[in-house]
Amino acid sequence: MAPAGIDKTGRITEPVREIGVAHATDVLVVGGGIAGVMAALASGRSNGQTFLVERFGSLGGTGTAAMMNLFYVPYAASRGLVRELFDRLIARGGAIPGEFVVYDPELYKVTALEMLAEAGVEILLHTLVSDVIMEGKTLRGIVVENKSGRQAILSRVTVDASGDADVAVRAGAPYTKGREADGKMRPMTLIFRMGGVDVPRLVEYVKTHPEDFSPDPLQCMLDLEHHMIRVFGFFKLVEEGKARGELWPECYYFRVESVLPERGVLTVNATRIYGVDGTKAEDLSRAEIETRHQMIQLAAWARKWIPGFANSFILDSASTIGVRETRRIRGEYVMTEDDILAGCHYDDVVGVDANQQNPRQQGGHPPDGKEGGPQDVEAREMIARMFVYEIPYRCLLPREVDGLLVAGRCLSVDHHADVYTRNQGTAMASGVAAGVAAAVAAQAGVPPREADIRAVQAKLQELKVDLDLLRRLGPSPDRLE
Ligand SMILES: Cc1cc2nc3c(=O)[nH]c(=O)nc-3n(C[C@H](O)[C@H](O)[C@H](O)COP(=O)(O)OP(=O)(O)OC[C@H]3O[C@@H](n4cnc5c(N)ncnc54)[C@H](O)[C@@H]3O)c2cc1C
Repeated sequence: MAPAGIDKTGRITEPVREIGVAHATDVLVVGGGIAGVMAALASGRSNGQTFLVERFGSLGGTGTAAMMNLFYVPYAASRGLVRELFDRLIARGGAIPGEFVVYDPELYKVTALEMLAEAGVEILLHTLVSDVIMEGKTLRGIVVENKSGRQAILSRVTVDASGDADVAVRAGAPYTKGREADGKMRPMTLIFRMGGVDVPRLVEYVKTHPEDFSPDPLQCMLDLEHHMIRVFGFFKLVEEGKARGELWPECYYFRVESVLPERGVLTVNATRIYGVDGTKAEDLSRAEIETRHQMIQLAAWARKWIPGFANSFILDSASTIGVRETRRIRGEYVMTEDDILAGCHYDDVVGVDANQQNPRQQGGHPPDGKEGGPQDVEAREMIARMFVYEIPYRCLLPREVDGLLVAGRCLSVDHHADVYTRNQGTAMASGVAAGVAAAVAAQAGVPPREADIRAVQAKLQELKVDLDLLRRLGPSPDRLE
């Protein structure tokens, strides 16, 4: 194979080359994050021949590699494939059920592999999708790069669960990136874990200093008995740390979650970098480097000043920076926050999710910075309410491209609806929906846009997806059951 060449003017050209077809499948899922895992599982369970491609060596994406290891789904309200996954994790000591489900990322990786193998899904890891194969406006497959070289994978229907809509965008689907008004995106975070923490001591301190923490019971959960612990605040201690030069100027709070009290282990979700674009390698590199410095500062400061942290240490850090927001496709429908607050019903509903938010706010992560600062009423004063919303099939269908569905973070919603839908519950619900729809479309030999929506809904209900949740509970119930 001829290599790329450079001419005297410095122009670099790649020779035209033929690529071998390494695999062909009915349903191809790109990205093995929590959305892609659910999509592949749902397609496999719907008898679709299914192939999953993932750039990392393990599954879970943000939920494992980026260490965001708590499912924002109340265990009691989980259903279908999601409940099955939780129950498998719980059975092997890999998850704590409660108002959300804290899980062990290592056991998630293995459990996901097992469930996919049982559903007959083929998996190709260490494989980056670099291009698409088009026949007119129809996506016929993808081009990948991996240790074997450059390969083609053909498919009848592809689900783009890459988070960044890599496939949809390369296929020519319209999209937006970040906030519609100015393109700004939510900050990135390098999550890390600390060990050696005296958790009861920490909890005692938080209980006796409520003025220094978020008043929202979901942000500050102090239930030691059920291991449901999450703490957001330390506002004053952080200000004092900054005054001593121990923390960077844009740091306004410290947050711990996914706490395992008896092991003295917890996750720190408190590094922040703004003004970076997760679809640019240079920005991702800068974010990784800067947040690693922040991690060192936070750990040293916590050891010195936070009760319970005197013997703590950095146990490990995520193997990739956590990216909250990049591209969202423009689908056949673009869901807005108004739709969510109005409790809109859709004839083509394929999923229902719920989470707690403060309406018309930023969901805790404003792209403008200063999160948790003195002016941030959402962080310091507000108490979120539960919102239940339906996901219409049209949000999974990119405009202008056939043969393609999306699931997860790149769903067709606007920046304000993304406050709700960027959460793990919607990622999984849209994954299940996309997997079922892809299998139904592939089996019928039609593009996803022409899939029989009643057949998709019937199959989802067979998989125990609760499509009536919003009708039963209304848009803002006190609790989910
Ligand atoms: C720091 C942080 C904190 C968060 N906190 C919460 C929270 O408290 N509660 C909550 O509910 N949600 C939270 N979220 C959001 C939630 O975790 C994510 O939105 C969700 O996990 C996204 O899942 P996904 O599968 O859509 O995308 P991802 O997890 O991004 O998965 C995409 C997968 O595709 C792979 N991939 C990408 N591009 C390619 C390619 N070109 N070729 C091959 N593979 C590719 C990636 O490696 C990855 O495995 C948080 C997110 C972050 C980053």
